[in-house]
Amino acid sequence: MLYTILVIIAVIVSVVIVLNVMREGDGTRWLSTRATAEHTAEGAVASVQTVTSDRTVLRDAAPELTASSRRDALTDMCSRSAIGERLEPAADQRPATVVVFLLDSADVITAGNERYLRLSAGICMPTPSVLVPQLEQAELAARLAQMAGGGPVAEFTDSLERVATETRVNIQALRRAVEDHEFVVHYQPIVDMRDRRLVGLEALLRWQQPEHLVVARDFVGLAEQFGFIDRLGAEVERLMLSDLVPLREAVGDSTLALNLNVSAAQLLSADFLVRIISVLDRMANSGLELHLELTETAMMVDPERACAVLGQLRNHGARVVLDDFGTGFSSISWLHKLPVDAIKLDSSFVTGLAVDPVSARIVRTIMTLATELGLAVTGEGIETQDQREALINLGCIQGQGYLFGRPMPASDLAAYIEQSDFRSGR
Ligand code: C2E
Ligand code: MG
Ligand code: MG
Repeated sequence: MLYTILVIIAVIVSVVIVLNVMREGDGTRWLSTRATAEHTAEGAVASVQTVTSDRTVLRDAAPELTASSRRDALTDMCSRSAIGERLEPAADQRPATVVVFLLDSADVITAGNERYLRLSAGICMPTPSVLVPQLEQAELAARLAQMAGGGPVAEFTDSLERVATETRVNIQALRRAVEDHEFVVHYQPIVDMRDRRLVGLEALLRWQQPEHLVVARDFVGLAEQFGFIDRLGAEVERLMLSDLVPLREAVGDSTLALNLNVSAAQLLSADFLVRIISVLDRMANSGLELHLELTETAMMVDPERACAVLGQLRNHGARVVLDDFGTGFSSISWLHKLPVDAIKLDSSFVTGLAVDPVSARIVRTIMTLATELGLAVTGEGIETQDQREALINLGCIQGQGYLFGRPMPASDLAAYIEQSDFRSGR
């Protein structure tokens, strides 16, 4: 009965979420059911999918979560908000210098038991601005130090205050854009470079501003630094799912990879696993296979957890791709331990192929390693015929780059496939 009502409402409003209760013996389970209607290009309802997840554990943990918001569960230290509260009276009575350390990321693990951590530090001397609380000033200084490459120490100065104000404005605009759903996803073809046959599409996020489109490179880093990449990731998943029907119509009957970029914070967030399983459920029988693209650095933030989460997602049918391969700093010995199916050769090696013999040697070595480990390889950022030929000669068959097609909206794909001389096997 509940499902019938849900399906009817979903047909009317596209997406509906309800919290329902199930009694099983003495235990009550709290379930969340999401029903989503998929439409054809003409707007008719093609299908309705429902996904039910068990929220009992989260609901039972709610009081504990409130108490733990004042303490960090991992380190048992004061949480950020608790420190902020303590600092405010201290600043009135006795001026304090505040230093904030940010963990830049990943640690290089050697001999699989020594860990090297990189920190960025932000300092705010006891001259509190009336505009921004001292903790926030020190934190902004640390984040700006981190964005400059990580590692250095930055002091909150007048000039930094100007930069920080600008950054805050951008951050506010970006946050608002997430609330207002100002994003779109574009898809870039991945092809077999020998015959230009389409083998996959990479979903790339774009911020649709009134005057122009902002590419991911210009805002993904900010969203990562300021802690809302996970929300943005959920938006990408939503947009990608809403494109499934036009994507399917554009590419015909063959099986294609649909590549989704995932940042470290997304991988480590509590509901990532459940969310991606629900994406996989929605993609079942669509002919599109979900490939998750992560950098080595993202995986090495917490390798054990990354392995556990990605291992489960692989069991549900996802494939895992190491993005920008060769630019991270993980050790080769980790590569065979990570649950990885393919690698993407970073565009810097591709660019170097024509001008620098070392690039060709590196690519050859990576190809040998990948073959030994049974990993597929895709070359990134291919712009010229020379680069394409050089890669094919080195054994790299799949490629992506402006030579084969720029990222485009799902609605442009069908015309693009018709016009260009690559086919999806139809
Ligand atoms: P990436 O995953 O390595 O994506 C490739 C980037 O290179 C894209 O930039 C793409 O537009 C660009 N590109 C593709 N072919 C060529 C070429 O031939 N020449 C040149 N010069 N560039 C090319 P974009 O879209 O700005 O994305 C930058 C990065 O932002 C991505 O690098 C990815 O790490 C991240 N990103 C993009 N979309 C998402 C997303 O939905 N979620 C997350 N977490 N990260 C995303
Ligand atoms: Mg990528
Ligand atoms: Mg890449």
